Amino acid sequence: MPSLFEISIRSLKGVGDTRAQLFHKLGVDSVGALLYYFPKSYEDWSKPLYIADIKGGEVCCVKGRLSATMRESRLSGNRYMVRAEVSDGYDAMRLVFFNNKYITRMLKYDTDYLFYGKATKDFSGVQMISPEFIPAECMKDSFHPVYALTAGLTNKVIQNAVKQAIEMLPERISDPLPAHIREKYKLMGLRDAIVNIHIPQSPQALNNARYRLMVEELLVLTLGIRALKQQNTEARGTNITKDFTEEFISLLPFKPTGAQRRAMEDCTRDMLTSKMPMNRLVQGDVGSGKTAIAACACYNMVKNGRQAAFMAPTEILAEQHYATLSKLFEGTDVKVGLLTGSLTASKKKQVRDSLSTGEIDIVVGTHALITEKTVFKALGLAITDEQHRFGVAQRSKLLSKGEAPHLLVMSATPIPRTLALIIYGDLDISVVDEIPPGRQTIDTLLIGSDKRQRAYGFIKKELQKGNRAYIVCPLVEEDDSELSAAEEYGAELMLEEFSDFAVGIIHGKMKYQEKEKTMLKFAQGEIQLLVATTVIEVGVDVPSATIMMIENAERFGLSQLHQLRGRVGRGQNKSYCILVSDSSSENTVKRLSVMTSTTDGFKIADEDLRLRGPGDFFGERQHGLPKLAISDFSDMETLTASQAIAEDVLSESPDLSSDVYKGLRAAIRRLFKDSQNKMN
Ligand code: ADP
Ligand code: MG
Repeated sequence: MPSLFEISIRSLKGVGDTRAQLFHKLGVDSVGALLYYFPKSYEDWSKPLYIADIKGGEVCCVKGRLSATMRESRLSGNRYMVRAEVSDGYDAMRLVFFNNKYITRMLKYDTDYLFYGKATKDFSGVQMISPEFIPAECMKDSFHPVYALTAGLTNKVIQNAVKQAIEMLPERISDPLPAHIREKYKLMGLRDAIVNIHIPQSPQALNNARYRLMVEELLVLTLGIRALKQQNTEARGTNITKDFTEEFISLLPFKPTGAQRRAMEDCTRDMLTSKMPMNRLVQGDVGSGKTAIAACACYNMVKNGRQAAFMAPTEILAEQHYATLSKLFEGTDVKVGLLTGSLTASKKKQVRDSLSTGEIDIVVGTHALITEKTVFKALGLAITDEQHRFGVAQRSKLLSKGEAPHLLVMSATPIPRTLALIIYGDLDISVVDEIPPGRQTIDTLLIGSDKRQRAYGFIKKELQKGNRAYIVCPLVEEDDSELSAAEEYGAELMLEEFSDFAVGIIHGKMKYQEKEKTMLKFAQGEIQLLVATTVIEVGVDVPSATIMMIENAERFGLSQLHQLRGRVGRGQNKSYCILVSDSSSENTVKRLSVMTSTTDGFKIADEDLRLRGPGDFFGERQHGLPKLAISDFSDMETLTASQAIAEDVLSESPDLSSDVYKGLRAAIRRLFKDSQNKMN
C-alpha cells in the first residue's frame, strides 16, 4: 500500500489547507497515514436500551420515534433550540438540540431512529442533549469509530475522510505480513484489518482486525530495534574471574538491603559466568540505592583488571556519582575520574589521556563519554543511569568503546515487563523493591488552590527551619509559555510572598550551564526555594529539600509526579509533598489520590497504566521509542505472537533482504522515521 502514503491528505474531499494542517497535528499527512490513524474507541449502537432502563449519566443508544410535535424556540444571543419527544413504545424521553436549524427537517415523524448520546435523568424524566441519530433501517455498522481529536477537527470530519480513504484502497493491496506468516499465526489480511478497524462489521471482526494490527506493529517495532542494536550482540563478554562483591560490601558506609545485595550478586554472576556480555536492567524506585549496585559492578570489573564507564544524563548527576564513588573508594587503589562537557579543554584531555593509559579505572560522565575522542585502555563494563533518558543508539555507542563490554542499565521508571522485552530483547532484570531502612516517609496532601496561602505559610516554616523547598509549575505546551509559567510565577513569589527568602528559577528554556548553576546553588543552600518546571525530575540529591508543592498537579502523569516527589524525603527530616489541583473530574481526583495513599513506585506505575492507558503512560516518549498507533504493552498475547514471528522472520532472512519482506522493511522505515533523532 505504499502508494497511498504518497497521496496527500488534501486529495480528500472536505480536506483543504486548514484541515490538512489540523491533520498534520495528529501526525496524519497522507491518505495512508490516515488509514493507520486508528479509532481510540467505538460507540456501540447495536444494543439500544429501553428508556425505563436508563439510570442517568450513561452514554447509550435508544431506539424510538417522535411522539410529540417538535418545538423551536429562540434563545438569547441569536441562539436557537429545538425540543422533541421520543417514545420507545413504552416510555418517552426528551431531546434537546441547540443551534441546528436543520433538525426539524432531518427528523421525520413515523420513522424509527437510533439516538446515541449521554442520557440524564431527573424528576421529570430522561433527557438527551444533541444526540447523534440515524434512521434505524439505515443502520449498517453498529460500531461507530471515535477518533482522538485536535481542536478544530471533529470526529465527523475524520470519519468522512476515513471513509473516502477506505474507498481509495485497491481491492488487492500488498501486505507487510506475507501469506505464510498470516496463515501460520492466523492473522487477518491487511485490507480487511484496516476496513474493520475503522468500520467494524462485527465485534469478532473488530477483535481480529485489532489483533492483526497490534501484532504487526509490535513486530515492526521489534525488528526495527533489533536492527539498531545488532552490532553488539555477537561477541562474548570479557568475563571476570574473581568475585569481589563481599569485599565491596565491606567498603559501604551502610548495610545493603536484601534487594541491593541480590542485584549486586546478579551482576557479579552475569560477569563471572555468562556466555554473552551481561545485559541487565536494574529497576528500582527513586531512593532504592541503585548507585551502590552500579558501584559494586564497577569494583568487580576494576579489581579484575578492566575499566568501567558510568554515564549519567546530566552533569550534576554525573558529579554526584563521581563524588559518591570517589568517597567510597578513597582508601582503595581504585581511581575514579570525571568527564563532562563543561570541564576545560585541558582538563578533559587530561582525563581522556588517563583513560587511554588505564590510569583511571572508573570514569563517571555525561555524553562526553561517547564522543570519538574518548578512548579506553580496556573497557569491560558500561553503565547508564536513568536509562530512559538515553536512546538505544547512545547505549550502543558507549558499548562500542570496548570489546563486547558488559552492560548495566539503571532506571527508576518502572517499565512493564512486556515493554522491557521489546526494548531490550533478552535483557535480564533485577528489581530493587526495597527502600533502605530509616528513610523518612513523605506525607502527601491534595489541596485546592483556595488553600494555597496556607501552603505557602507551611513552606515558609520549613525554610525558616533551614530546609529547602521546591515549587513546580507544569510545563505548558505552547512554545514560550513554559518560560513565562516558571518565570512569572517565580518572579511574583520572589517579590511578594517569599521576598524574605532566596528564590531561584529553573526551566527548560534555560541554557544547560545556567540550569546546572542554579541547581548547584540550590544544593549548596544559596537558593532556598526553587521554582521549577519538570527539569528537576532526574535524580538530583538535595537532602535538605523537605517540601515540594506541585501546581496544577492534574496535568502530570502519576509516574511523573512520583519522580518529582522523589526529590524530597532524601535526608533525615520529615518531608512533604503538596499537590494543588482544582480539577473536579472524578478520574483526576482518583488518580491524584493514588499519590496520597502510596509511595510505592511500582504500584503507582500500575495505577497509571490502568487509569490513563498505555498510550499516555509513555506520554513523553520516555523510552526513545516511536509513537505507536494501536499497541499497548499490556497484552501478552499480541506480544508473544509478535516475538515468535520476529524469530521466524529473522531465521528466514536475518537482514530482511528477502523480497517477501519488502513491505515489512518499508513499515520499519515509516515507524522509525519520526524518531530518528531520539534513536541516533
Ligand atoms: P537511587 O536508586 O534513586 O539512585 P541512590 O543510590 O541515590 O538511589 O541512594 C539514595 C540514598 O540512599 C543515598 O544517599 C545512599 O547513600 C542511600 N543508601 C543507599 N543504600 C542504602 C542502604 N542500604 N542503607 C542506607 N542508606 C542507603
Ligand atoms: Mg540514582
